[in-house]
Amino acid sequence: MSYKLTSKTAALQPYDPSEGTYRIRLDANESFLMPTVDDRELMAGAAADTALNRYPDPLAEEVCRAFAGLYEIRRELVTAGNGSDELISLILSTFLQKGEKVLSVSPDFSMYRFYTAITETPCVVMDKGDDLRIDPQRVLDTIQQENIRLFIFSNPCNPTSLGLDREAVHTIITGTDALIVVDEAYMDFWDQSLLQEADRYDNLIVLRTASKALGLAALRLGFAVANPTLTAVLRAAKSPYNVNGITQAMAAVALRNRLYKDEYRTLLIKSRDWLIAGLKGLREQGLLDKVYDSCTNFAYVETIYAVEVYEKLKERGILVRLFGDRHLRITAGNEAENRELLDTLDFLLKIAVHRVGGKGK
Ligand code: PMP
Repeated sequence: MSYKLTSKTAALQPYDPSEGTYRIRLDANESFLMPTVDDRELMAGAAADTALNRYPDPLAEEVCRAFAGLYEIRRELVTAGNGSDELISLILSTFLQKGEKVLSVSPDFSMYRFYTAITETPCVVMDKGDDLRIDPQRVLDTIQQENIRLFIFSNPCNPTSLGLDREAVHTIITGTDALIVVDEAYMDFWDQSLLQEADRYDNLIVLRTASKALGLAALRLGFAVANPTLTAVLRAAKSPYNVNGITQAMAAVALRNRLYKDEYRTLLIKSRDWLIAGLKGLREQGLLDKVYDSCTNFAYVETIYAVEVYEKLKERGILVRLFGDRHLRITAGNEAENRELLDTLDFLLKIAVHRVGGKGK
């Protein structure tokens, strides 16, 4: 007798398998800022005081209260997760009955499709079209035609860095009785959040994360915000002690400090704007085909040399993300990182364009 993997399990690939070490990592949309030394000391103290022999608070009350305080929402609407990734998986495996369909758009965050595939949930994928933007009416038509029960999307979008404004999201939420999950992982960098309105709708869950603007990716902490009925389902369905005690203790300290939402965000946006301006400069020289506007902390660019440039950047110790064979996603780093990235891109693209003997196309 021998155990055999199924075709589903045999085909599984780890998320983003970037191997090797890189001097400059601009591939994962993390913040380039750490909590201040003072705050890290306070956080270390909170971690040291954690009762390691006890299970942590199953509802992560303190950290949810700190998050609710930071964003001025009601604590009763907040559920904490082991990263928003866990919450995405939880939602996709909880709110659908067997055979019910999910809608995802393309391009979008790959984990939505990954988690539907692993639970064998049927997933309809709607291509966004050439402008890479979501058309609310097309979404509503597809939901109706395909009998979709849940639509999940990132807003602003990873990887395109484009956003769908609040009015357009309202149109989707109010135009259907499917459950709408708006993943606002990057909404700290834009001003079109639905967080304040989460309990106005019976079919809305908003996801947030501490991994991006809040600069706490290592702690693995995310939040779902929804009306009390949906929140009760999330709390009932999640694993009992999903957010570990060290994370709860440390993040509660960090999230009580408004710095993380306000000043840090300003610095991250400044870095993003500087990066985008530099990339647009490369486009004006005919070295890039397209630089998308960004509502996030990263840039999304199009070039026919994407694969070559991605590989050559890696050889020089700089890691970005490659999408398909024409797009690169580049996280805004600190000043020195942005500068080196832009100088290296300028150099590599000029070589590529010169070799082909043409312009950026
Ligand atoms: N949603 C989106 C759109 C993301 O880009 C990411 C991280 N890449 C996540 C969710 C997951 O974040 P977390 O670290 O909270 O699991």
